[in-house]
Amino acid sequence: MKCVFCGCNDSKVVDSRYLKDTSIRRRRECVKCGKRFTTYETVETNPMIVTNVFNEREPFKLEKLIESLRYATYCQGVSEIQELAENIEQALLLEGNQEITTKDIVNVTIDKLSEVDTISAVVYYTQHTDCNSLEDIRRFIK
Ligand SMILES: [Zn+2]
Repeated sequence: MKCVFCGCNDSKVVDSRYLKDTSIRRRRECVKCGKRFTTYETVETNPMIVTNVFNEREPFKLEKLIESLRYATYCQGVSEIQELAENIEQALLLEGNQEITTKDIVNVTIDKLSEVDTISAVVYYTQHTDCNSLEDIRRFIK
């Protein structure tokens, strides 16, 4: 960390303190001029980038996933939407791809949703794929 007083590129940490769980306050001392300054470190969470069917890229949004889950589960009264959405996000993150497509989200969501409620999974499937016949739905269920 560059010294703010003399521009020297080296400084030593004389004190570190946690602020909540996600950030650290560090007291630093310049090795050249000896002056002290404070830096704050926070964890940067990189959102996944989603490419949609129109080839537009946007950061992954949990709220959007929650909304689509609400639509799909509306008639079934599935209550643990938030938890389910977080599980889906976690599964996507575990795949380790920074760039994903809406299709990836749909696939993981169908997997996770069918563990919770099969009917909702079928509804979600009809809403998010090009499925347009009873035959498609039958094939999906199999
Ligand atoms: Zn300095």
